[in-house]
Amino acid sequence: MRFQDIPGLKLVKKQLSRAVQDQHIAHAQLFQGPVGGAQMAMALAFVSYLFCTQRDGDDACGTCPSCQKVHKGIHPDLLFVFPSITTKKVKDAESDAFLPEWRNFLLESPYRSLPDWLLYLGAEGNRQGNIPVEETRKLVQKISLKPFEAPFKVVFLWNAESLNASSGNALLKTLEEPPSSTLFLLICSDPQKLLTTIISRTQRIQVGTVEEEALAAYLVSKTEIDIEKAQRLAMSCEGNISWALSKAANENLSMATWFAEWMRAVYSKNLTKLSHMADDFDGLAKEEQKGILEYALHMFRQCLYQITGTPELIKSLEKERAFIANFSKTLHQDAISRMSEKVSEVYYHLERNARAKMVHLDLSLQLIRLFHAKN
Ligand SMILES: [Zn+2]
Repeated sequence: MRFQDIPGLKLVKKQLSRAVQDQHIAHAQLFQGPVGGAQMAMALAFVSYLFCTQRDGDDACGTCPSCQKVHKGIHPDLLFVFPSITTKKVKDAESDAFLPEWRNFLLESPYRSLPDWLLYLGAEGNRQGNIPVEETRKLVQKISLKPFEAPFKVVFLWNAESLNASSGNALLKTLEEPPSSTLFLLICSDPQKLLTTIISRTQRIQVGTVEEEALAAYLVSKTEIDIEKAQRLAMSCEGNISWALSKAANENLSMATWFAEWMRAVYSKNLTKLSHMADDFDGLAKEEQKGILEYALHMFRQCLYQITGTPELIKSLEKERAFIANFSKTLHQDAISRMSEKVSEVYYHLERNARAKMVHLDLSLQLIRLFHAKN
């Protein structure tokens, strides 16, 4: 994780990289941001930069052995403490027992929240996840060792709100007399739940909320939803990047699924299915109908790139690749161009309030003809 991998938040990034450059690093820092925000990502980027052996200006290189190890969460000088649960196999809720899951969870996305993590662990019902006092006691032993490779040992305490009074107090002792060469990075979204004595021992890093514009661009780059939808999500997510990402991915997924089903029905000349789909289409909001047609045009364009031998131009998600490859095999360049024209015409009529059901069914019939035309 580098600073540049996180959308927006330029000022915080600058503040953190400067702290490293000036070697002005507080031994306990509280990274604070909204639920599902960039606070963990920012703490990881900070440590990547701190540990990086080939820094590139204000950011880590991302490729040196140190950067690689931080990225995978396997650097020997990183300690992770996070809420966990007891299971049949794990009797004491302790972070080490869940370390492999934690590394994957973090690698998949550093923006997620506590409920996401509990779900990931398969916690049932309303289990809370906590950081028990034994965990903080063990931590004290671990940090008594010198760092192995890096200039510091770094303790990431994720979701510090999960410290209860006794584990918080145990931690407090360590914060008051920190061992040398150890950094404590507390990650939280609700500092009001922390002991005030802990807060007063830490330097606050207000990571804050990623700016809407930067977040929208990030959503487009990660999930390829269109910019308008991305802007709407960025506006309504209240800084919860995790929520916005999963919304965006689902939106695209359902669109992709609907389109693929439609094209299969066209290919197999399944008129019953096509008639049902026309009903479906009719029931959608106008914006969704237009979204499907735009998506169809986008996918036809990708198929054209495939057919004309310029696959390097293809912009698609991993899950769409197989569809593009297979669909392209069944079509000629000419047929795809004409199919695109038909879809554009329907788009035009839809905007002028034509009856959605009729135009969609008519479009399906025309696509069948084009699809199965002998060239
Ligand atoms: Zn590096």
